[in-house]
Amino acid sequence: TMQIFMPLNFLGFVYREIRGALANIENLFTLLSKSPGVIDNQDAKPLVISKGNVRFENVSFGYGPDRQILHNVSFRVPAGNKVAIVGPSGAGKSTIIKLLFRFYNADSGEIYIDEQPVSRSTQASLRQAIGIVPQDTVLFNDSIFENIRYGNPPASDEEVYQAIEHAHLSDFINALPQGKDTKVGERGLKLSGGEKQRVAIARTILKGAPILLFDEATSSLDSQSEHAILSAFREIAVGHTSIVIAHRLSTIVDADSIIVIQDGRVVEQGNHALLLANNGPYYHLWNTQQKVNSKDV
Ligand code: ATP
Repeated sequence: TMQIFMPLNFLGFVYREIRGALANIENLFTLLSKSPGVIDNQDAKPLVISKGNVRFENVSFGYGPDRQILHNVSFRVPAGNKVAIVGPSGAGKSTIIKLLFRFYNADSGEIYIDEQPVSRSTQASLRQAIGIVPQDTVLFNDSIFENIRYGNPPASDEEVYQAIEHAHLSDFINALPQGKDTKVGERGLKLSGGEKQRVAIARTILKGAPILLFDEATSSLDSQSEHAILSAFREIAVGHTSIVIAHRLSTIVDADSIIVIQDGRVVEQGNHALLLANNGPYYHLWNTQQKVNSKDV
């Protein structure tokens, strides 16, 4: 019996590990990617989050030796602030986020969270500290309710209901054929991009991480859905440090600070009014988007 029992037990362990990993990162990235061989340093310490300050100090990085993507990137996100990262496609916005999450190690420079270097922190504590709302959320073949609970598996039903409420998902869920027990995922109900992002927001609320990352969907959602997502994210961002990768500048005019990235370099930083007055790269991005928008209507 031992011989049969052991493998089954092991499979159960692997299953729980994978489920846990998925819930934490909301992304298949770490499980599937080949390159990130990032492991804890021998002297790695768990991060202790007191405020939630984030600081990039001269960070340079390339996915391979032949092409550098980020060049001496430096910026600060003071605790509790909302900072937006903007810039043309391919500029390096997602790469910045991947380094903060330590999917890769920086080639030089350092990233600090509350003045603790990310390179010398344990991966587990880092991932616990950051809640991410990705562009595309992974849904499992399970009920919508359990899909939300993945954000924090030990959460009580009551906590899951509250997260649903705060993510502005109650009306959507109540209108489903079997309500909260409706099966979603590959073999169940397919959710729209906007609905999936709200599921990710609900998961993030349950996770209760001090630092939040929001990767705005590239493709524009219908305006009602976009409004629901933005207001839900605004609510959960209160009292948190939040970093938003924005594709539509209209969604981040209220950010405390906007970091403009071009070709892997920080080319401008300031709030919306200041950057417009600068008449520089942000001003040009803004004008280009205004023109595109007015053509749409
Ligand atoms: P977008 O707005 O289109 O999402 P981005 O600003 O987020 O773009 P990144 O995804 O950070 O840009 O990509 C920056 C550069 O790094 C791009 O030239 C991209 O091709 C390259 N890149 C991204 N991921 C990898 C990878 N895994 N391996 C090699 N190169 C990559």
